[in-house]
Amino acid sequence: MNKIISAAIMTAMLAMTSSAALADAKNPKIGFSIDDLRVERWTRDRDFFIAAAEKQGAKVFVQSADASEQRQISQIENLISRGVDVLVIVPFNATVLNNTVKEAKKAGIKVLSYDRLILNADIDAYISFDNEKVGEMQAEGVTKLQPKGNYYLLGGSPTDNNAKMLREGQMKVLKPFIDKGDIKIVGQQWVKDWSATEALSIVENALTANNNKIDAIVASNDGTAGGAIQALAAQKLAGKVPVSGQDADLAAVKRVIAGTQSMTVYKPLKTIASEAARLAVQLARNEKPAYNSSYDNGLKKVSTVLLKPTPLTKANVNILVDDGFYTKAQLGN
Ligand code: BGC
Repeated sequence: MNKIISAAIMTAMLAMTSSAALADAKNPKIGFSIDDLRVERWTRDRDFFIAAAEKQGAKVFVQSADASEQRQISQIENLISRGVDVLVIVPFNATVLNNTVKEAKKAGIKVLSYDRLILNADIDAYISFDNEKVGEMQAEGVTKLQPKGNYYLLGGSPTDNNAKMLREGQMKVLKPFIDKGDIKIVGQQWVKDWSATEALSIVENALTANNNKIDAIVASNDGTAGGAIQALAAQKLAGKVPVSGQDADLAAVKRVIAGTQSMTVYKPLKTIASEAARLAVQLARNEKPAYNSSYDNGLKKVSTVLLKPTPLTKANVNILVDDGFYTKAQLGN
């Protein structure tokens, strides 16, 4: 009798869980944990992501850690206990999320690493632009204008794996110039939290230490490029010293047009956000997404979708308008 009852209960429970799973697959819940929504690009990533995910029937819960490792961990734990089906994470610190990811996987949640790779953790997939290529573009943009002289390397956040990949790309291009003796690296520093004010003071100090004899700055994104250019401007050097960037932030594109920043790298955020939304929904539905690359994150080979960046100078700035990234009015031309 007892056995019969428990068998009946089991059948009922199984029916309940499979219909719940079915409902989830149709309207999956996605937790989007973003390092820092105070940085311009991520608010656009968020908006494009939500729009694309909702179109596919998903519901998105967004959290911003504002560059705090601890806050990001507790926000992700909170999303896990809310019962999301997929976690999409832009990690602040690439190396501290392995236990949190373990918890998610135990709860049957899929994990997608967004833009930045989470290291040493059992994540399901990764999507990004080709960061090494971005680094190459940055160094090429600057060496084209200044093939000789004293170079300063302004790296990204030391907690962001992208910062290292960018540097690898930059060095690939710079190395032959350095080996020939044409380029001399007079200093380099990683910029904490990718902070523009930190970049400003680093470059102020570098200029002082080198008696203003810095001929080019390879900056790893537009925010830090902005800080560097402010330091150059104070010495009347803005526009004379080539500076790179990436993101096509509005202020940076205006600097490119004005000639104080040599180049930026355009990464169509709508593309990464909507591809990521598609990937997240496919993972929730146990479908097999199409990947075009893979990265070793220290624990496993992670299936990856890699997207193409485009170098941007004053000469091709109009592609931003053609692409709908900005209006003509926003660029003021
Ligand atoms: C992203 C850049 C961004 C930077 C700072 C990097 O991981 O790839 O696009 O500028 O983080 O938020």
